[in-house]
Amino acid sequence: MALIVQKYGGTSVANPERIRNVARRVARYKAMGHQVVVVVSAMSGETNRLISLAKEIMPDPDPRELDVMVSTGEQVTIGMTALALMELGIKAKSYTGTQVKILTDDAFSKARILDIDQHNLKKDLDDGYVCVVAGFQGVDANGNITTLGRGGSDTTGVALAAALKADECQIYTDVDGVYTTDPRVVPEARRLDKITFEEMLELASQGSKVLQIRSVEFAGKYKVKLRVLSSFEEEGDGTLITFEENEENMEDPIISGIAFNRDEAKITVAGVPDKPGIAYQILGPVADANIDVDMIIQNVGADGTTDFTFTVHKNEMNKALTILRDKVQGHIQAREVTGDDKIAKVSVVGVGMRSHVGIASQMFRTLAEEGINIQMISTSEIKIAVVIEEKYMELAVRVLHKAFGLENA
Ligand code: ADP
Ligand code: ASP
Ligand code: MG
Repeated sequence: MALIVQKYGGTSVANPERIRNVARRVARYKAMGHQVVVVVSAMSGETNRLISLAKEIMPDPDPRELDVMVSTGEQVTIGMTALALMELGIKAKSYTGTQVKILTDDAFSKARILDIDQHNLKKDLDDGYVCVVAGFQGVDANGNITTLGRGGSDTTGVALAAALKADECQIYTDVDGVYTTDPRVVPEARRLDKITFEEMLELASQGSKVLQIRSVEFAGKYKVKLRVLSSFEEEGDGTLITFEENEENMEDPIISGIAFNRDEAKITVAGVPDKPGIAYQILGPVADANIDVDMIIQNVGADGTTDFTFTVHKNEMNKALTILRDKVQGHIQAREVTGDDKIAKVSVVGVGMRSHVGIASQMFRTLAEEGINIQMISTSEIKIAVVIEEKYMELAVRVLHKAFGLENA
């Protein structure tokens, strides 16, 4: 007997028939003698619908109330899934985040899980129930409902698997595993049987939405056996996230995947005096407002001033611009503060990069041949990321996928 956590995403619970399909799969696992915890997302499109409703009332919705609203999507699907299981004669019980007590901090809309009370779940599992838990939501120390950021049900699934010491966490979605890049953008993309944890973390952090980055972080920290599979297919092993890296050999691909991200915006603070403390004076107030910063570059001009550029989430661009214009620009005597949300980030990822030189130049040459201008670059041992104009994003992903031989590796 094993304890398995199965997470089903929005398209997998999009309507009653698909929810019945989920229940049938869960029933098969129960019939094999396993204990099953099911985590579900809201029906596809529902979270977007709820966010739009909130914005109709208040354009920049109060974060606490927004979380109260968007968390309802998952409350519907847990009830439906429990009902579908009961209809198959299986004992099932639904749980909201609050009912489990998935304790988070109070950062509404991007809360972090601090602790999971497994007492009730364990008892129900031992009594033969399937526990159906709402993804994406938690509760803070004061009893406020919180949500974990878009795609957060993945994190609920992996965090529950970690807390319950599950034998495996299965992420069921609308593709049959992790591909060399998003198969919706590059139809020639190839499914990977396995991918190292380190690569998956990098792909997720660079924008591959197949797994939310925090779910991969949890899997790494607690060594959760994590697999991505299709909820529409009966067969198939999907993609396993592995913790062992093979001895590197010549056969291994240098690049494993390509990720892209359209969710970032670029902010430039232009014409600032080139002197110590500038980076801190610009980014300090941004960090104080709990705005995450991703890429950062600073160029020194010939006239002794510099341009300081960084990226933030698109949703937070206006907030960051207001802070910089109101609190920083005058103070540091910057010429201007501008924002650009028509950008995209494209990254190539692979542990094989460590032992190979020339990957960056191959990437830059490939983009140059298409006339794509690179605005920012950042690198790590296993990744090269560039910021380009948004309209070239799909083209860039396709030509890089081909240039690195990913379709037929
Ligand atoms: P769910 O609702 O099940 O959580 P998501 O839409 O969040 O599903 O994630 C699955 C989607 O991730 C796929 O439909 C695919 O378009 C996208 N995706 C992006 N990068 C990849 C990749 N490298 N491999 C597989 N899918 C990817
Ligand atoms: N329903 C949430 C979202 O759309 C959480 C999830 O699907 O993982 O982001
Ligand atoms: Mg998702």
